[in-house]
Amino acid sequence: MPEATKIRAVKGTRDLLPPATGLWQRVEDEARRVFAAYHFGEIRTPVLEPADLFARSVGADTDIVTKEMYTFEDRDGERLALRPEATASVVRAYIEHGLFNQGRVNKLYYIGPMFRRERPQKGRYRQFYQIGAEVLGSEAPSIDAELLEMLVLLLDRLGLRGCRLLLNSVGDSHCRPEYVKVLRRALENMQGRLCADCQRRAATNPLRVLDCKVEADQPLIAKLPSILDHLCPECRAHFERLQAELGQRGVKYELAPRLVRGLDYYTRTAFEITSDVLGAQNAVLGGGRYDGLSELLGGPAAPGIGFAIGLDRLILAVEAVGQLKPQEGLAVYIAWLGEAALPPAIELATELRRADWSVELDYEPAKLKKSLGTASKLGARFTVIIGEGELASGRYQVKNMATGEQQEVPAARVGGYLQERIGSTFFARAEIGR
Ligand SMILES: [Zn+2]
Ligand SMILES: [Zn+2]
Repeated sequence: MPEATKIRAVKGTRDLLPPATGLWQRVEDEARRVFAAYHFGEIRTPVLEPADLFARSVGADTDIVTKEMYTFEDRDGERLALRPEATASVVRAYIEHGLFNQGRVNKLYYIGPMFRRERPQKGRYRQFYQIGAEVLGSEAPSIDAELLEMLVLLLDRLGLRGCRLLLNSVGDSHCRPEYVKVLRRALENMQGRLCADCQRRAATNPLRVLDCKVEADQPLIAKLPSILDHLCPECRAHFERLQAELGQRGVKYELAPRLVRGLDYYTRTAFEITSDVLGAQNAVLGGGRYDGLSELLGGPAAPGIGFAIGLDRLILAVEAVGQLKPQEGLAVYIAWLGEAALPPAIELATELRRADWSVELDYEPAKLKKSLGTASKLGARFTVIIGEGELASGRYQVKNMATGEQQEVPAARVGGYLQERIGSTFFARAEIGR
């Protein structure tokens, strides 16, 4: 047979393998636990959506939709897209299932892959992962405050202390157009002094100038008028109420009047959390209020607020800090010597596994030395040895792989013996989620 060429993963995508996935699971478990504490429910929407959903929400002329989104024509001619983000999907589902009729606020979270065909570079993938949450059905500032408090708790649980919460209000359809006019005038006076991108943005979407990361532009951008001086009374009251409540909740924040979101449907609260671990410019997450999105997608007026965390980068930060450990690996390896020892070995493995211990055993007859080698390679904490002598005496050898210490333990006591030494933290499933 001719040698077949190897098939590789699609460019810009990657396989996540154990044991690295152990940390992903820990982070996701922590997120689920924190979200549950704030009474968020999980929503799982399809990865495939009508392409039009994102053209209408994210915007038909944005880079995401024009350059990065994976779109294709299905066999029946329908234009489909791999979702580049999930907020639009969540709002679509909210409308489609009439969740607004439930007479209460909907608090939803998601964890899953998103797709954007970006230029491949370190830490950026074309299939990337996000954890996000959305609260739909109320514009109460208390919701914004609770969401931010929840985020701070989550980052704390992940060991990411010392994060900075940057907070702004981007106004609404009453006050923002006025501000944009003021901004446009100020930008006209700076013509030719800002970077090329900014000059283009000054004409098309002046708010995005505030977003510019070019170092040389910063002194000029700092001189531009602040949106916080141009909020209407309602937006100002909303923002003040939010800040007061953050104070009550002990959530620290910094005002960031240049923090904007480029899309028109964003209103009022906008925020970003940065971590020094990822470098000063690097946000761990961003989010904000989007009171007009539901209507944009053909739904009823339904104010909403949400955030998305880039999981790929979050994991890098969690790894760098090293506070959160991956789920524990292998607790016990069982080495059986001779066919007669296999049934009791299986019996012990089953007993320990039913108690949620992570257990591995030889699948084929092996010499003791080889079994111990395997056990140590797999990182087992203890190896239980069952050979002819052990069968005869009814006492198994239990070897502590770290210290090399070995002890004879009556067969029926092995579970209890291990429990005393390893403690309850060494379950295959972490305590989380129980
Ligand atoms: Zn610029
Ligand atoms: Zn306003």
